[in-house]
Amino acid sequence: MINDPEHKHNYYAATAHPVPVRPALCDDVEFDVAIIGGGFTGVASALSLAERGLSVAIVEAKKVGWGASGRNGGQVLGGWSGEGALIRQLGARAEEFFWRTRYLGNEIVEKRIEKYQIECDYVHGAATVAFNARQMESLEQEYNECAQHGFGDVLSLADKTALRAHVASDIYVGGLIDRRGAHCHPLNLCLGEAEAAEKLGVQIFEDTRVTSIDHGDRPTVRSAGGTIRAKWVILAGNAYHNLEGKRLGGYMLPAKTYISVTEPLPEEVAKSILPDNLAVCDANWVLDYYRLTPDGRLLFGGKCNYANNDITDIDGAMLPRMRYVFPQLKDIKFEYSWGGIIGIPLNRIPMVGHLSERVLYAQGYSGHGVNCSHIIGEMFADAIENESSIIDPFEDAKHFKVPAKDLIGSPLMALGMSYYRLRDKLGI
Ligand SMILES: Cc1cc2nc3c(=O)[nH]c(=O)nc-3n(C[C@H](O)[C@H](O)[C@H](O)COP(=O)(O)OP(=O)(O)OC[C@H]3O[C@@H](n4cnc5c(N)ncnc54)[C@H](O)[C@@H]3O)c2cc1C
Repeated sequence: MINDPEHKHNYYAATAHPVPVRPALCDDVEFDVAIIGGGFTGVASALSLAERGLSVAIVEAKKVGWGASGRNGGQVLGGWSGEGALIRQLGARAEEFFWRTRYLGNEIVEKRIEKYQIECDYVHGAATVAFNARQMESLEQEYNECAQHGFGDVLSLADKTALRAHVASDIYVGGLIDRRGAHCHPLNLCLGEAEAAEKLGVQIFEDTRVTSIDHGDRPTVRSAGGTIRAKWVILAGNAYHNLEGKRLGGYMLPAKTYISVTEPLPEEVAKSILPDNLAVCDANWVLDYYRLTPDGRLLFGGKCNYANNDITDIDGAMLPRMRYVFPQLKDIKFEYSWGGIIGIPLNRIPMVGHLSERVLYAQGYSGHGVNCSHIIGEMFADAIENESSIIDPFEDAKHFKVPAKDLIGSPLMALGMSYYRLRDKLGI
């Protein structure tokens, strides 16, 4: 159980499966692979590597799942963020990769849930909903392209009337239903995978912040209490680390997003708002996302804040949004509310590659981390097994850096936020 003030009002922490007490690192030890960060990237990579017989240690500053992986919307969607941008940079090679891996993350998660009997309330069904004709056109284009690539059978377009049967709200003009998409209790998924990894011999150190990485033939991660010398290191701290600042600092928007969870809804109300239990996100840049939990609550996320300013009254900020989408919930109260940082690279292309010959890193999946982190875990295991020198295609991506981030970063990001809000208002 995550016992931390930041998780006091987190529904996932309140409904998490029990976990063992794990030690802090207080010695100098050696493993094949040392992983920094116990979120999906770290845990999924550890499990992929342990399945291939490597000895692995995870070093987590707080607890497994403490970061974005134990706080997110639980939507397990197909595809990657930044696809268009990377295809514009690399052409056919990136396009082939994105189509090949569109639902690979979902497949990996589903196989693991079955193989390791992970209880995490995994249910199929997702939808992206449009506020205007322009957004609907872009969903139609997505549908057509997916149909051409063999995914037509899992997707369907819904006009305003048809969508009303899936999402009982009058504010949308239509949507794209995705039966291959899914939603789950992400913290229990992450904890379940960590437990499976431990059964395969992975050692997890908690409450241990890595303070630096020594690069070289045998890279070493250092913490106040001990070190791990390894053949390979994976940096999987995403938006919650500040290691390797010279190389990685300034590329990601420290975007915060918030989630509130209602009291349990009367059964007929829960069934009426989302009759086939879809996970929904809208097509705005500054988007709302929501779904039902198995105990009949509405888990409602949004208020993505690219300026990294904290919202103190999360309920107060989220209630009008929820009531705008579902006016029929005007008397329903929230029981849990929390926020978390999503790593969003300026061009939205995930940042994945080598920091040096034997030190890999991955961060910045934007809102697609549940599925994509699992694909990256397999790609890292392949790279380590085959001693690869490139993580294809991401390592060839060009990223943009906010200059003098500490001085002008926040105002620049606030400006970016206004730009995205304006795009939503204009429907572009
Ligand atoms: C509120 C919210 C809603 C979201 N909704 C969705 C969604 O519905 N679907 C989706 O696909 N994605 C969603 N995302 C994004 C998704 O959660 C992330 O992309 C994903 O969880 C990233 O996993 P990760 O393991 O890379 O990072 P994290 O889960 O953030 O894990 C990083 C870990 O590294 C640890 N760490 C950091 N620095 C150090 C250090 N120096 N030493 C040791 N440990 C360290 C941290 O404590 C943390 O536990 C959402 C994110 C948020 C915040």
